Amino acid sequence: MRVITPDVHRISPNLVSEAAVKVVSRLKSKGYEAYIVGGAVRDLLLGGQPKDFDVGTNATPEQIKAVFKNARIIGRRFQIVHVRFGPEIIEVTTYRGHHASGSAPASGKDSGNTKAHSRQSDKGLLLRDNVYGTLEEDAARRDLTINALYYDPEDESVLDQLNGMADVEARLVRVIGEPHTRYREDPVRMLRVLRFAAKLQFDVESETDHAIAECAPLLAEIPSARLFDEFLKLFMAGYATPTFKLLYRYGLLHHLFPEPTRVLAHEARHYELVVAAMESTDRRVREDRPVTPAFLLAAIMWPVVQERAAELIHAGETAIPAFHSSGQQVVAEVCVHTAIPKRFSLPMREMWDFQPKLERRQPKQIKSLLASRRFRAAYDLLLLREASGEKLNDCGQFWTEQQEIYPDLVGSAPRRD
Ligand code: ATP
Ligand code: MG
Repeated sequence: MRVITPDVHRISPNLVSEAAVKVVSRLKSKGYEAYIVGGAVRDLLLGGQPKDFDVGTNATPEQIKAVFKNARIIGRRFQIVHVRFGPEIIEVTTYRGHHASGSAPASGKDSGNTKAHSRQSDKGLLLRDNVYGTLEEDAARRDLTINALYYDPEDESVLDQLNGMADVEARLVRVIGEPHTRYREDPVRMLRVLRFAAKLQFDVESETDHAIAECAPLLAEIPSARLFDEFLKLFMAGYATPTFKLLYRYGLLHHLFPEPTRVLAHEARHYELVVAAMESTDRRVREDRPVTPAFLLAAIMWPVVQERAAELIHAGETAIPAFHSSGQQVVAEVCVHTAIPKRFSLPMREMWDFQPKLERRQPKQIKSLLASRRFRAAYDLLLLREASGEKLNDCGQFWTEQQEIYPDLVGSAPRRD
């Protein structure tokens, strides 16, 4: 185990959350080991302000709970303890150990209780991971070398067992252990590899990279609700554009959104429309303005919605019902893979439903369309369509002017829900 001293790693102690420091010293005063771990140490080494702090310890969840008044055990697949300090929540995680089967050999001492606490499917997928272990074992079960560094806020040293520091310096995302095995245990790790590569602008180490092509289909085994959670982490953190490009290039986007991704390849303007939506979301995140996943999802799925609607129209359907039923179909198909909650899919469908109405520009409907609370989002999608090269007879310009004529009307209708 390499110990890196502060003169070498140069972590600035005033970027470290006081709450996290208190959690660590409290656990230590009760005789447990405790370190700041994971993404926070990585971000500190890169000189950035971590968005949250995780603490790793050899205390069990019950023992942690006994040490803190404001502690809550959460999770089942992966139990963690949330310790609240004012507005801040510190995630405290007990060191994970080896499993009875799979990549890591079972250590004799805990083989008696592993079965109840850890479950693996016949394909190697980790279904539950609550076998506790030592710091060394905990480091080895983490996803990436750059996420397996342990910081002791008291003596300010960093413990580095897996050469994570060297990978931070070389700006490399490297999976710990044998990549195929680690992806088989948890295919979401492939998404995490690309998420960090995009966010940190790191390269993907070559074995970490090569195993993705073979393991990508394993994402089909991930519950659709977890994939939606992962979608939010991938796309709502301010790095949607580079993340989208990597996911597309590595063929992983297809596993989140099969049909929409297939149609993206049909025309360059489809891809450009989605990239423009990503860029606008990233800009808003940087400016601290509100963002909704509904807009991004509506953009990702728009080309296939439009293609399906065109088929229905070709078969004799009129535009408005055609868009309505194609939107419904596309959402239902995507939800099998990535479970989009209704609170997002309903506004998405309204944005699509609006498109043929906005294109028609029917005088009698102008005011009621402007007044709808979905108008702005639908108008933004219309502008993206034009910006990506769709010819709509200056429809965007028309609606820009209508908003100038009736500025007080826009979005003024009472909420229906
Ligand atoms: P972020 O800055 O996005 O919070 P993070 O590295 O803290 O990045 P989390 O998702 O908060 O990421 O996870 C905390 C730590 O837990 C990670 O640093 C990693 O060591 C470990 N971890 C998370 N997910 C996995 C996984 N699927 N497999 C193995 N280890 C994981
Ligand atoms: Mg984190």
